[in-house]
Amino acid sequence: MLADIGRIYPLSRPYNVPMTVKEEVRRDRLGLAILGSTGSIGRQALEVVRLHRDRTRLVALVARSNVQLLEVQAREFRPLMVGMVEEGPARELERNLFGTGIEVRRGPDCLLEAAVHPLADVVLNAVVGSAGLPATLAALGAGKRLALANKESLVAGGDLVLRALSGGGELIPVDSEHSAIFHCLKGEDPNAVERIILTASGGPFRGRTREELEEVTPQEALRHPTWDMGARITVDSSTLMNKGFEVIEAHYLFGLSYDRIEVVIHPQSIVHSMVEFRDGSLSAQLSVPDMRIPIALALFHPERWETPAKRTTLSDLRSLTFEPVDKHAFRCLDLAYQAGRAGGTATAVLNAVDELAVELFLKGKIGFLDIERMVADVLEAHQPRKVEVLQDVLEAEEWARDRAMIWWEENRK
Ligand code: NDP
Ligand code: MG
Repeated sequence: MLADIGRIYPLSRPYNVPMTVKEEVRRDRLGLAILGSTGSIGRQALEVVRLHRDRTRLVALVARSNVQLLEVQAREFRPLMVGMVEEGPARELERNLFGTGIEVRRGPDCLLEAAVHPLADVVLNAVVGSAGLPATLAALGAGKRLALANKESLVAGGDLVLRALSGGGELIPVDSEHSAIFHCLKGEDPNAVERIILTASGGPFRGRTREELEEVTPQEALRHPTWDMGARITVDSSTLMNKGFEVIEAHYLFGLSYDRIEVVIHPQSIVHSMVEFRDGSLSAQLSVPDMRIPIALALFHPERWETPAKRTTLSDLRSLTFEPVDKHAFRCLDLAYQAGRAGGTATAVLNAVDELAVELFLKGKIGFLDIERMVADVLEAHQPRKVEVLQDVLEAEEWARDRAMIWWEENRK
């Protein structure tokens, strides 16, 4: 698998880790690599790690271009390496960290270098977008425990991720719904599972009609009622595409057919998802919405370590409500089921078009409902192919982005 990734991002520079550091890490501390450390998940992961400085060792921190924050993080956590994907910011970071002894790596390679770093026991992939897929494959191929927040890895390349798992790595979900299911399934017979029920907050536009949705602005879409997240996932939550991605994510993580994965709206975001078993019993995992809980569960699995999260009180549980999804107003969820059932490259296309559509929406170039129209039309035109290697995903994504740009040209008002 790594050889396959290597054709696209050759791992050119070998490591030179001083033995003293290596021994310290190996003996008594959990070695952590955090990809996307400057993002919402990355920052919350560091808040958790800050509580456990005596038991952990930051091996690598990687971001795309946020020099200021990566420098602050590097000075506080003293990782062995930091990586910056964009060249210009990487050079600035190199200058700023000169003399600190922290190695700075640059370019897309640095994601892979951190993912396979020999001293990383656990790799947290908190990059946004399918740019995170090669690192997921690399970490699993290198036999790491992968704490996966980057759901696009599974949406774009689920078949590849499953194959990479045979390399001896371990995959622990960070997404709150999947973390909930993962823990409900602990110690259970997988054959006793009847269905899983993913909960969705419904986003900021719950209850709106299609006519009302036509006019919503990026500012409104970025105001999520219960979670504070990065821009892409916040907009995806407002269209329910995020929930569609999570259905696909659940399909790959738990090996269930799409007929056995359901979605229910639960505006309070306290019940993080449920599993129904053969005997009619339901298991659920509950807490106030705070990503630091599932992040800690994934980083320190199978142990439970402290987090800074607020405790859930009985008054938080007083009114828990559940309602069906309004599939007429929000069509992205059905589009995701459709792509998931089609399989092969269809889900990579789904993700790539949505990624571009969200970017155009945030720049004010298309309307809110154009996101689903663009996805629907490009998906309709796509002939799914089997995914054998990473190149198949990359080609499908390129095709999807080209088609989406044509759609935009044709539909510009
Ligand atoms: P953010 O946008 O807040 O952060 C993204 C991180 O990835 C940043 O560190 C960013 O670096 C880095 N990054 C962006 N593009 C690239 C790239 N091309 N190559 C390498 N690094 C890149 O996103 P979130 O933290 O919200 O989300 C991260 C992932 O976790 C997503 O897949 C999301 O769906 C998933 N997730 C997030 C949740 C949340 O609560 N936020 C909940 C559940 C899942 P820089 O800052 O330098 O640009
Ligand atoms: Mg989620």
